[in-house]
Amino acid sequence: MYHRIGEVRHDPHHLAVTPRRFAGQMAALARLGLRGVAMSELVRAMRRGAHRRLVGITFDDGYADLADHVPAILHRHGFGATVFVVSGRLGGVNDWDAGTPWPLVDAAGVRRLADAGLEIGSHGRTHRRLAGADPALVRAETYDSRLDLEALLGRPVAGFAYPYGSMDAAARAAVREAGYAYGCAVFADRAAQSLSALPRVYVGEHDGVVRLAAKRFLYRWHVQKGSP
Ligand SMILES: [Zn+2]
Repeated sequence: MYHRIGEVRHDPHHLAVTPRRFAGQMAALARLGLRGVAMSELVRAMRRGAHRRLVGITFDDGYADLADHVPAILHRHGFGATVFVVSGRLGGVNDWDAGTPWPLVDAAGVRRLADAGLEIGSHGRTHRRLAGADPALVRAETYDSRLDLEALLGRPVAGFAYPYGSMDAAARAAVREAGYAYGCAVFADRAAQSLSALPRVYVGEHDGVVRLAAKRFLYRWHVQKGSP
């Protein structure tokens, strides 16, 4: 799970990874014989039990400079990835995080990312916490956001990523009922893990090859109970 890839001077929430570090991390996956893929490809492979050498690569929020480095680095290795955008904030800033008004990709930019081969998923309409939220809000953030993006792209949108990783059983049900094939959480305890709550690992600027391998090991232990 990544957020922004770029040279960012002020990053109090540790959401940015430099292009150089990101390129090194992707090269490390390739050296390990792993392939970075979009989440929809990973989920299709999981259904066949053929996901062992695949790693889902995701970018939350949809920062405006994502296209500067990410597609070229992924293409170097034949990798794919998924970008989860906030459908009601396209062209705006990430005003949900204090102190970092980072520009978000606009509608044309979303189409360009899709044209560059990246999967586009939803990160809600307005980046709200869904755990315990009003059902009408949950529906707007899941179902309506999917309609927004499908209208923009003219193709089905398969994935949802919970803002802040915030979800409960009602939110997971809303994601399924909204027609998403999968939902990405951050932490999900084993009982909650399913296609509508796929746990993800935070990857940051300090994750060199050794830390990345350690995180992969811990993650595998955390999810080990067969495919959801
Ligand atoms: Zn987010």
